[in-house]
Amino acid sequence: MWRTTILLLILTSSSCTAWPAELPPLHPPPLSSSWWPPSHSYDEGNETIVELREVFLWTPAAQDAAGGVQVIQDSITAAVAEMNEAFTMSGIPAHMTVVYQGVTEEYTEHSYEVDLMRFVGVFDKHLPWVHWLVRRHRAQHATLIVSHDNACGISYVMLEESKQFQKYSFAIVSHMCLDGAYSFAHEYGHAAGLVHDDLTTGGNSNNEGVHSYGKGHLWNGNADRSIMAYDPGGSVRHPIFSTPLVQINGQPAGVAENADAARAFIQTLATVAKFNQTSLRNMIIIASTIGGTLVLAFAVIVVKKVRPKKRSPPIQLQREPKPPLPAEVRVVIEFEGDEEAQVQKT
Ligand SMILES: [Zn+2]
Repeated sequence: MWRTTILLLILTSSSCTAWPAELPPLHPPPLSSSWWPPSHSYDEGNETIVELREVFLWTPAAQDAAGGVQVIQDSITAAVAEMNEAFTMSGIPAHMTVVYQGVTEEYTEHSYEVDLMRFVGVFDKHLPWVHWLVRRHRAQHATLIVSHDNACGISYVMLEESKQFQKYSFAIVSHMCLDGAYSFAHEYGHAAGLVHDDLTTGGNSNNEGVHSYGKGHLWNGNADRSIMAYDPGGSVRHPIFSTPLVQINGQPAGVAENADAARAFIQTLATVAKFNQTSLRNMIIIASTIGGTLVLAFAVIVVKKVRPKKRSPPIQLQREPKPPLPAEVRVVIEFEGDEEAQVQKT
């Protein structure tokens, strides 16, 4: 078994007063029908490490506030290292790599909430290419780094386990909190269906994600807290998702009944890993002339799933926002006669 009880007396951890809190996560609208069923069958005895791919973008304002490109990139490297440390500490069989990073040259920041909606939005003029970018790189999640200093971050929280949540699998994080405060890991936890601790949210009934126990935790008289827990004042956040299987400073870092975010993350991991793993492989352009008027119909059919699993995914007809033609697909249109068109894919 890869999950074992570990006694840890000393961990690297954040200092407790340098950063503001993350904002409460937003709730997405109800997800539509489950054409792709959630994967509840993750085998906790399976030692296979799940690869998670991340896209990082940052605004020009964040770059200026941080002190330049190199500072931002170093912070990204540190944040991902912290995430992988948290996976290891929490017994979560996952490993994250950065598949794309770059500045959003044209974007002007607004507020956390507006920036998140614009980042997630598909059919607006703000960063409309982001969804294409994450699909192009088969990234399960993307993070926009901003210059805001009133909070550390915001994201949507997955409320029901579904691959449909992939369209909300985005986060906004301040450059101040990306690493050190573990805010990147915190916001990623929301995308995996985790929520905050009950102590600092007052047992809010809204504070529940995919699993009731997928919550943050404070212990040692609130002197220590996990990644998903808020700071009630003077609490040190450790690079761990709450779990009763690990002890830090002499006490368990979680409670099985209501603060076992590591177990909840493991149970949604297979679904999270599927986010954005389909790619555009077939674009069929049908051209015909009707009454002298050229009519173009675009049909985008996703027929191939990258790295097919044991269970073949169903064919999905999916609408994409002005998808660029993939480089590996060529469409040759040959006209024969006045009214016939022949389309051939090579
Ligand atoms: Zn949060």
